[in-house]
Amino acid sequence: MSAITRWMWVLGCAALVAACATRSPAGGDGTRPVWRIVSLGCAQDAGYPHLGCFKPCCERARADGRRESVAALAVESVDSGDWWLVDATPDLPAQIHGRGRLPKGILLTHAHIGHYTGLMYLGREGMGARGMPVFASRKMARFLTDNAPWSQLVALGNIRITEFDDGVPFELGSGMRVVPHAVPHRNEFADTHAFAFEDVLYVPDIDRWEDWRTEGTSTGGMRRPFDAWKTLVVDGTFFDGGELPGRNMKEIPHPTVVRTLELLADARTTPTVWFTHLNHTNPLWDKGSSASSRLAAEGCRVAYAGLELWRTPHE
Ligand SMILES: [Zn+2]
Ligand SMILES: [Zn+2]
Ligand SMILES: [Zn+2]
Repeated sequence: MSAITRWMWVLGCAALVAACATRSPAGGDGTRPVWRIVSLGCAQDAGYPHLGCFKPCCERARADGRRESVAALAVESVDSGDWWLVDATPDLPAQIHGRGRLPKGILLTHAHIGHYTGLMYLGREGMGARGMPVFASRKMARFLTDNAPWSQLVALGNIRITEFDDGVPFELGSGMRVVPHAVPHRNEFADTHAFAFEDVLYVPDIDRWEDWRTEGTSTGGMRRPFDAWKTLVVDGTFFDGGELPGRNMKEIPHPTVVRTLELLADARTTPTVWFTHLNHTNPLWDKGSSASSRLAAEGCRVAYAGLELWRTPHE
């Protein structure tokens, strides 16, 4: 190799290294840290298949050995590997095992069984956590502090609760801003919040989109949530109104997927939409169903466990 050829080779390597550094997700070169959101499950509170259901919706899943964890998210800093768990589901151990390391903290949407009871694994009979940070609304914090067995987690210091307020941002680690938004939902024990992570909105449970008010103003016929975020991970409990024969669907209020699709069609923007929190009766579990075809035709998807739903856009 001549001296000039060798020099050109060295220059080429240097350029390659510089190009890789520019694209590095580490954030150490001045670019923004990269964050991503991964689904850890998309079933309604009690999971799929559903305990006590011997109809085709769940028998099929049992025969295939198929199961899906309860709806939860991992919000992860790609460069550090630090991650935060959104909702403590009854499937919490498996959801954390699957990540290979413990979360830096847990965010809670509300006090229904699929969303907080996984906290039990942090206590004395479980991992005996020391001060696991838990982010909860004031009402949710009071519910945990005042009621056994959750109060023991607080008393023993297994969890350390940080309270949040509706609309007031807080940070995860360094760089991920979270804004909680109060959501209308069946609130027997506490209240319910959605979380906005940058331009992603997570709403696993909501009664009616039309009842949702953000920042003290009406959503104006529902346009606002769909226009305000680029990625929506939303309540897809029921596909349409005919899923629970013999039960009054008004007593189990959720916006159906069909209703949400109608509202999306009227939105001014075209967000990326993932449906989560599916009830066992939802025909979307069957990938060959007409419901699944319709969803695909509308450009929307189901947030199955393991799917990356969002990643910080590179600037
Ligand atoms: Zn739920
Ligand atoms: Zn079923
Ligand atoms: Zn709920």
